[in-house]
Amino acid sequence: MRIGVPKEIKNHEYRVGLTPASVREVVAHGHEVVVETMAGAGINAADAAYEEAGAKVLKTAAEVFAAADMIVKVKEPQAVERAMLRPDHVLFTYLHLAPDAEQTADLVKSGATCIAYETVTDARGGLPLLAPMSQVAGRLSIQAGATALQKANGGAGLLLGGVPGVAPAKVVVIGGGVVGAHAITMALGLGADVTVLDRNVDVMASLSHRFGSALRTVYSTASTVEQYVLDADLVIGAVLVAGAAAPKLVSADLVKRMKPGSVLVDVAIDQGGCFATSHATTHTDPTYIVDEVVHYCVANMPGAVPITSTNALNNVTLPFVLALADKGYEKALLDDPHLLPGLNVYQGQVTCEAVASALGYDY
Ligand code: NAD
Repeated sequence: MRIGVPKEIKNHEYRVGLTPASVREVVAHGHEVVVETMAGAGINAADAAYEEAGAKVLKTAAEVFAAADMIVKVKEPQAVERAMLRPDHVLFTYLHLAPDAEQTADLVKSGATCIAYETVTDARGGLPLLAPMSQVAGRLSIQAGATALQKANGGAGLLLGGVPGVAPAKVVVIGGGVVGAHAITMALGLGADVTVLDRNVDVMASLSHRFGSALRTVYSTASTVEQYVLDADLVIGAVLVAGAAAPKLVSADLVKRMKPGSVLVDVAIDQGGCFATSHATTHTDPTYIVDEVVHYCVANMPGAVPITSTNALNNVTLPFVLALADKGYEKALLDDPHLLPGLNVYQGQVTCEAVASALGYDY
């Protein structure tokens, strides 16, 4: 199979569909790879590194789309990319179609086979191609929070871990899933005083088992959220209710009563945010202050660290890329009950129930 990797063109997207190391694996399986020039610039992977790995570098995205059987990307195809899709193309990337009627209509019209990273499943009911981005965002949330706690950035002027003889800062993580667990890892690693609130007792049992007595686990109710948020220096919002907007767990009134200079990092902002005072921000202007509380609400946190994010993404996408290329996409999809839910659009039909019902397509 011939696999095409165009340069990402969405604003401020620095990741790339395949790293040179992944290209080498794909080529070792007997496939051809065509890469758009500068596709790896955002992760410091030069064209020469792709050529060394066995890829052919082409000058334009149009040439890559024309030459490829399967397109491997990171972000959903933009309008100019969608216009280059053909019925015999396989597209493997993040799509997030449910809120995007225009993209869905274009993909249906293209006739291409479109497999979305975010709906591929695993044996434990998880979403393995979303998890690495949650890992990155969770770890980054503590770095962002630690920076925001510095005086010059509007914070109280606290070092997360304190020093011997001076107490550490209090970190409260709301939601102990993938984002939460990785935030906890970083916060404990820096020596902070960490509490996690969750509604799922199994999640808390597993976190308790993993982190031992260093971590305080608390069942999440309106009362416990209020109690711990009022006492916190840094609050990480990491909740997810599958398929729904994030619940607003911290009201504007509660924010007003928080300690001056405390920090809210709303990782759940991509689902609308779990603090009433949150609104989405960007990496160029990531924070703002409401009632003396610093808010960090970047909707695309992994974009800040494209080298880590691209490698983490490739670790989980590469086995699927190889299966699709080795077996042919039809057999690969039919053989793997976890890859099959990734199929969102096929031969002009929407094949993902959630997308079909959100946008009124037959399913
Ligand atoms: P997850 O499903 O692994 O974990 C969510 C956790 O929230 C679960 O343990 C669940 O029990 C808990 N929860 C639900 N309702 C709760 C409540 N009322 N109180 C306390 N806990 C509650 O999800 P995840 O992968 O950790 O993702 C968390 C959020 O982060 C999602 O909204 C996701 O979209 C977002 N995210 C954002 C970025 C970004 O760049 N901003 C990146 C990755 C993920």
